[in-house]
Amino acid sequence: MKGHIDTDFDRGHIWHPYTSMRDPLPVYPVARASGVTIELEDGRKLVDGMSSWWAAVHGYNHPVLNHAVTRQLDSMSHVMFGGLTHEPAVKLAGQLIELTPEPLQKVFFSDSGSVSVEVAIKMALQYWQAAGLSRKRRLLTVRSGYHGDTFGAMSVCDPDTGMHSLFTGMLAEQLFAEAPQCGFDAAWNENGIEDLHQKLRQHHEAVAAVIIEPVVQGAGGMRFYSPHYLIRLRELCDEYGVLLIFDEIATGFGRTGKMFALEHAGVVPDIMCVGKALTGGYMTLAATLAADHVADTISSAEPGLFMHGPTFMANPLACSVASASIDLLCSRDWEQEVQDIQGALQDGLSPCSRFSGVHDVRVLGAIGVVELCQPVDMAAVQNFFVERGAWVRPFGRLIYLMPPFIISPSEMVILTRAVRDAVRLIA
Ligand code: PLP
Repeated sequence: MKGHIDTDFDRGHIWHPYTSMRDPLPVYPVARASGVTIELEDGRKLVDGMSSWWAAVHGYNHPVLNHAVTRQLDSMSHVMFGGLTHEPAVKLAGQLIELTPEPLQKVFFSDSGSVSVEVAIKMALQYWQAAGLSRKRRLLTVRSGYHGDTFGAMSVCDPDTGMHSLFTGMLAEQLFAEAPQCGFDAAWNENGIEDLHQKLRQHHEAVAAVIIEPVVQGAGGMRFYSPHYLIRLRELCDEYGVLLIFDEIATGFGRTGKMFALEHAGVVPDIMCVGKALTGGYMTLAATLAADHVADTISSAEPGLFMHGPTFMANPLACSVASASIDLLCSRDWEQEVQDIQGALQDGLSPCSRFSGVHDVRVLGAIGVVELCQPVDMAAVQNFFVERGAWVRPFGRLIYLMPPFIISPSEMVILTRAVRDAVRLIA
């Protein structure tokens, strides 16, 4: 039976992320989402294993977050941020400064993770111009990284993932080191960072910043690596006079078992990006935080201001719900919740490792990954999950779970059992 949502129109006219319009994967019409349940228009209920790509840590339709939006709507949905300010932005900036390491004191709000990465890159470039070293304008990063789909962000993504290879010749000059090779718990070996060290030794005079996803590389392969890498990376950046940018857009707000993944290493970057779970997945908002020395240097030289200014900067609705989301997270025992999810992922996914078609099973915090030896047939596997009442969206060789933190043990069982069943069929 055809529902209210015109999927034929959708198919003919609307692009979905990384989805072919000629030979489209199925898109499932959603009627509503509440708690950890996504309800399709035909009434099927799916346990959400994705948190809408790292974002919906509190699940959907949360009364506290709903209230934050409606209360803010009553006073102001948006005003320009040029020459005006408002309580939601001031409150949220204070919370972010409080939650992140002490040196990060200046907050730039933007409207998506990719744009917050653009902002971080521009800050690094403008910093070196202001410092009189405008030759430092290359970005050094590591293979398997992903930082977004805008041009600056694409320039620091691994071209070998294939996501941006069409644009390679048009991007900013790229400089890549090998991806961190040491697993999260593996004994640290200095060789793991040798290639990056070598690139810094060779190119530091032209390098403005190193940008990296701390501890977890997300869309570039769902890889986890040792916090020691970050400790050594900080030392190298200091030694060679290069800024360090952490992209915590995916990892921020508890996902890896720490509020921010950098806490696994106790390392402080010069610039840091957050997004996704910042608003509990309610609205599109991101932020770039800069250390005082970065902001002060930018301000000290002509033109004395940072050259960026989005129309929807610090949108009050988004800032209000982000504030409420942070308060909600801090009011709950989220560390215990994430630890419980980690245990359930370990118990539920580790049996997958006995299949010959499985390359690796790994879990960190509320992230569980089954890496297969071959790419999956995405449409078939996704449909398999839907039929089992689970919303899981594999990509490439990866089937992964990152559920909302409010998920119950029985809902975790639905997710992990569905993954085991899928793996049994295809691996
Ligand atoms: N950085 C990381 C680590 C991400 O995982 C993503 C999105 O997946 C981005 C940046 C881009 O964020 P957005 O999709 O909000 O532009």
